[in-house]
Parts: sequence; structure tokens; C-alpha cells
Amino acid sequence: MELIYRTKSGHLDTSLALVEVWLGLVYSDFFRCDPKNGEWVDRDRIFLSEGHACPIQYMVNAELGYYPKEELFATNRRPDSNFQGHTVRNLKYGFENSNGSLGIGLWQAYGAALELKSKVFCIVGDGEMQEPSSLGLLAAPHNLKPCGNFILIVNNNGLAQDASVDIGPLSIAGKAWGWHVIEADGHDWKSVDDAYQQAVSIIDKSKMIIFKTVKGKGGDPAKAGKLGSHGKPPGNETELAAYIKGLESERK
Ligand SMILES: [Mg+2]
Repeated sequence: MELIYRTKSGHLDTSLALVEVWLGLVYSDFFRCDPKNGEWVDRDRIFLSEGHACPIQYMVNAELGYYPKEELFATNRRPDSNFQGHTVRNLKYGFENSNGSLGIGLWQAYGAALELKSKVFCIVGDGEMQEPSSLGLLAAPHNLKPCGNFILIVNNNGLAQDASVDIGPLSIAGKAWGWHVIEADGHDWKSVDDAYQQAVSIIDKSKMIIFKTVKGKGGDPAKAGKLGSHGKPPGNETELAAYIKGLESERK
């Protein structure tokens, strides 16, 4: 919240929807990375496809120790920095892919998974799953081959930038095309961990976890889960205080 407030720009709402989903993954007992050696060949990979969620990626990787938090806060969203408005591939910083255009990152991730033995995770938005290229990926386990090391993470917050989203048929379509589909509460730590544990235990199918989330969860309760706050930072100290109060009440 402070990062985005200071920059006066960035997607706070989307990032808040992914807090438990992202932290539950990188702090799980199976995820392998080395923040001191981002190019370690056997690392597990996280591809962020819905690139506007990069603030949560930037903060988590700072916490993990890929780079100093001070650098992030001093240069966030500057065009010439390591922390642009969408992620630029930078293995030293733990960023596997450049993003921005929706519907692309999940194909980059699937291609990587086809060639790698380590686990490949890809985070997509529910609005992004409406892209024809995203829907095309649904057929990949059937038309290409299943990837037992691939886990697609769908941030199902029910909202896109300017409209609501219903991905109801996604789990049915996924199963029909050969995915192992898991549906879970993306804000409940146990539900998140159970979903990941199940996903990594299955090795003969591509996996899809559909996490039910709330856009803006843990921020200003007046805005969470509602249209109209996409990409809008807290505008002033009063709004920031409302966000932080919401965080403290919901995430004790
Ligand atoms: Mg969404």
C-alpha cells in the first residue's frame, strides 16, 4: 500500500487479491528458489501473466532478498528502472518473464514447462482468461502434451478492469481438455496450502488452481470487490489510512 501510494500509480487492488496466493506459494515447503542466485537452473519458476499485478511480485521478491527494498521504493514504475509499470524479465531479480500484453505469459510459462524438469507456476487473471490466446492454452494438455510440472494459477476475483467476469465454465472446460482442476479459497491460508500440496502431488497432468479471491481484499472495505478501483492508488493520506485500517482489521 505504501509503495503504490508513494508512487501515486499502480494496481493495488489486483495485488491485494494475490497476497495469500503468492506468499503461500513462495513460503511453501516445496518451492525452491535462491534469491542470491536467481539464475540457478533448477529453480522453480513463477511467471506473472497478469503483469499489472507486479507490485505484489516486487514486494514479495524484496522480502525474499532478491534486492533491497530501498531500491524498489526509490525507483518503482520509472521507465528506466528494474521496476517498471509491468515486469521486465530479470532473472537476478527473480522475474521470469516480461509482461503487459495479457494472454501471453501463460504461453511463455507452458513453453518453459515443456522443456524444464522444475516446477513452473503461472499466475493469470480471470479477465485475462477471456483472451482467445488464453482459452487456446486450455487445449494444450490435449493438443501438445500434459505437463506434470505446470501449475496454472487463476486469480478469480470476478472483476476485470471495467466489467464483472464469470469464469464459471472454466473448470468444466479445463477438465474436458485434460487438466487436473482444483478450486480453493484464495484468502484462506490452509485452503491455499492444501490446493498447492494437491497440485504438486499430481505429476501426470497439467494442473489448474482456480483461487476465489476478492479484488482489493484487506484494503478499504468500501472498495474491496467492487468495480471502479482498478489500478487506482489511495489518493491521499485519508484514503491510505482507510486502506491500512482495512488491512489491520482483516488480516490480523
Ligand atoms: Mg480479475
